[in-house]
Amino acid sequence: MFSLKTLPLLLTLQLHMQLSKAFPVSSESQQEKNLEVVQNYLQKFYHLPRNSYAFERKNSASVIVQKLKEMQQFFGLNVTGKPNEETLEMMQKPRCGVPDHAEFLLTPGNPKWKQTDLTYRITNYTPQLSEADVDAAIEKAFQVWSGASPLTFTKILQGEADINIAFVQRDHGDNSPFDGPNGILAHAFQPGQGIGGDAHFDAEETWTKTSENYNLFLVAAHEFGHSLGLSHSSDPGALMYPNYAFNEPSTYALPQDDINGIQAIYGPSDNPIQPTGPTTPTACDPRLTFDAITTLRGEILFFKDKYFFRRHPQLRSVELNFISLFWPSLPTGIQAAYEDPYRDLVYLFKGNQYWALNGYDIQQDYPKHISNYGFPSSVQAIDAAVSYRTKTYFFVNNQFWRYDNERQSMDPDYPKSIASTFQGIESRVDAVFQQNDFFLFFSGPIYYAFDLNGNRVTRVDRSIRWLNCR
Ligand SMILES: [Zn+2]
Ligand SMILES: [Zn+2]
Repeated sequence: MFSLKTLPLLLTLQLHMQLSKAFPVSSESQQEKNLEVVQNYLQKFYHLPRNSYAFERKNSASVIVQKLKEMQQFFGLNVTGKPNEETLEMMQKPRCGVPDHAEFLLTPGNPKWKQTDLTYRITNYTPQLSEADVDAAIEKAFQVWSGASPLTFTKILQGEADINIAFVQRDHGDNSPFDGPNGILAHAFQPGQGIGGDAHFDAEETWTKTSENYNLFLVAAHEFGHSLGLSHSSDPGALMYPNYAFNEPSTYALPQDDINGIQAIYGPSDNPIQPTGPTTPTACDPRLTFDAITTLRGEILFFKDKYFFRRHPQLRSVELNFISLFWPSLPTGIQAAYEDPYRDLVYLFKGNQYWALNGYDIQQDYPKHISNYGFPSSVQAIDAAVSYRTKTYFFVNNQFWRYDNERQSMDPDYPKSIASTFQGIESRVDAVFQQNDFFLFFSGPIYYAFDLNGNRVTRVDRSIRWLNCR
């Protein structure tokens, strides 16, 4: 096993200095821990040489900085070559054990199966799920790939299969030991004879069929991507992204990035209608529209599909996150959201249900039905919502309702037409939030700043301006 002591002193000192800058208050032992995290991670996933001889020969410090930069580039972090906080945070996420710049690159020609009808065999099971649940998760994981390519997968109970599936732990004879709970969850081998194509799952993880960590179907679908010849993608929405992220299995659709990947190897699906999948939103796409927007304690959250962009108030930095990573029980496709700053709650709406958040915690007894607000039964979904002083405004098609937060009932004489009260807002509202006595209305790729004191639109611009784009 690798030990800190094998590092040349010079490198240790230099990393210590860098870590001291990033963590001015951290203790000596914390710094050593961080250093170990960095070295371990880069050795496992970025081919940082393990022995000190190689370090010295290749000018150790520059090699580790080079590998750090490579890793930061892959994950879309600031490429500093320094183990700063965001880098360390990323390194501690649960993930796949296959390196990000894999040996695949060293293999001449891309590895692939010669035949399209493949067999698999489950050699043992995990006691945490019933055999039927494991069978179902594995079958569904193969369907993810067969649905997007000409490949077929047949389960066999004995004999030699192309893809062997096993639950194993620690050192299990393939030079890639597992590490106990969390950390590395699974790994798989590129197509080939013998161990080629095989997928191993860390038997010490908690495997589930729910949103609890770790959903077997999702991890298996990722690993089978390797079994078929795919390497890791740096698209954070892709199945082949190295880090674990929960997605609702019952509605899972293979992302476009992965469809492109598998079809680049095996060609299009035999289905006359080629499958398409979700694409990851990019902040500066001028066609970008939003599902819902709300403030949350000074931050602004922009919801889109299974993601949200989070804008920091002072730094104005924007980061893309999965909804499921912050709130595993929330659905994707949030349709409306508003903050009630007096109660310190944020409300999120989808269809006729809504949830309440206090900071990043979902309140108990949710979701609730929107009829609690006093909507007629004809209203089954809300386009946008915003709270201002003691009132909350709900936008539905070309009308809006006004709710009194104190009396907890709808104000009389609503709904009213949006255009008659908010002059200049002519089209349907996708999202709205409040800032400095303005309502910011978003409709398609355009936003309107509506001055609540002057009662008029004072600015019209592209929505993506809010994500620091031109
Ligand atoms: Zn992987
Ligand atoms: Zn293994």
